[in-house]
Amino acid sequence: MLDSRTISLVRAGFKSVLAAEDGPAHLAQSFYAQLFVENPDFRSLFPASMDQQRDHFVRALAYVFDNLDKDERIEPFLRQLGRDHRKHGVDGSHFRAGASALIAAFRNFVGNEVWTDEVEVAWHETLALLTDNMAVAADSDELPPYWGATIVEHQRVLDDLAIIRLQLDEGVHYYPGQYVSVQIPQRPKLWRYLSPAIPCNPQGELEFHVRRVSGGWVSPAMVTESVVGGRWAISPPLGGLQVDRNIPEDVLMIAGGTGLAPLRAQIMDMARRSRNPRVHLFTSGIYPRDLYDAQTLWQLSLSNPWLTVVPVTEEYENPWWHCGPTPELPSGMHHQLHGSIGKVVTQFGSWADRQIQISGSPSMVRTTLYALRKVGTPMSHVQHDPL
Ligand SMILES: Cc1cc2nc3c(=O)[nH]c(=O)nc-3n(C[C@H](O)[C@H](O)[C@H](O)COP(=O)(O)OP(=O)(O)OC[C@H]3O[C@@H](n4cnc5c(N)ncnc54)[C@H](O)[C@@H]3O)c2cc1C
Repeated sequence: MLDSRTISLVRAGFKSVLAAEDGPAHLAQSFYAQLFVENPDFRSLFPASMDQQRDHFVRALAYVFDNLDKDERIEPFLRQLGRDHRKHGVDGSHFRAGASALIAAFRNFVGNEVWTDEVEVAWHETLALLTDNMAVAADSDELPPYWGATIVEHQRVLDDLAIIRLQLDEGVHYYPGQYVSVQIPQRPKLWRYLSPAIPCNPQGELEFHVRRVSGGWVSPAMVTESVVGGRWAISPPLGGLQVDRNIPEDVLMIAGGTGLAPLRAQIMDMARRSRNPRVHLFTSGIYPRDLYDAQTLWQLSLSNPWLTVVPVTEEYENPWWHCGPTPELPSGMHHQLHGSIGKVVTQFGSWADRQIQISGSPSMVRTTLYALRKVGTPMSHVQHDPL
């Protein structure tokens, strides 16, 4: 536990990084340069292109500094981060080396005038706490850093979206709503997070819904180059989206595109139980074609009266370049609503009496959070995965 003076010194320092033009990018560049100079053998642990790595690093730092005073959030986050890094071949000693590189990078960034003895002590104390948490978690985890899995089905549901089913070499336990890190043979070392779209089962079957992000390094290869028989690596599950059954509130789920996956997995899991809270699921996309899973959701709602599914799209028509048929929405399904998902959801009020989960692209999550905040939804009721 850090004292409030230490926290405010470290936060003030990081704020100055965020405020400077290209500050986060400079800090990240300087951190990795320092790390590789001090430890040349570390370079081979990272991918050739460091863009996404640097981006993740800065976002993780921002989350950590924002939550330094909230042990209940920060400790599980750091432990997950520590365990997750094992897929890169990282152990506890690497984290401790990282702390010294970050202190050097930060000192270079702020300059000697700001870097007083008190600031130095605050950074050392903070980074010792952070890296110890990650190092202990990485060194004590008994699960393998990743498992192998074979693609057994690859279905191009849309030109830019595939449903990919895999058979794990051994059973892996995850809770519905969690996500995993995935590495594909076409893009070694470029791990990407995907959320299983079904609950875990003893047969080790996995299903992912993958959208091709234009200009992305990995998702285009997942959608267009993956074939049956291909071997993927899957790292241990992360994240904690879940329906809290210990509180009386019903549930609001808001999905954008393939962000549906972790919500669908939870709904499928709930469908195995006899009693459930009411669930309102808004499934959204830009175009009608993006409601690619409407048929399955409709079937689920028919056999589970606690589930209401509302389809939402921003546009009324598919884009001219869309080829192939658009599946009709099942007759009897809630009629399709139009508009940006945040606006549509908040037309019905603030949903203040619900536990709320949002899942989708970072921009979809941010704009939906903004819309909810504007109508007074308590943010403590809202869960989403890290952006
Ligand atoms: C917790 C979590 C769970 C996820 N689950 C899924 C899933 O189930 N299915 C799925 O398809 N994707 C999922 N993603 C997104 C996925 O991990 C990748 O980020 C995405 O596939 C893009 O990877 P890429 O290598 O193709 O693009 P990158 O090379 O990483 O990025 C290229 C550019 O695209 C931007 N970008 C990245 N992701 C998106 C996006 N989603 N929408 C718009 N722009 C983007 C980046 O900012 C960058 O500018 C999840 C992400 C997180 C954090």
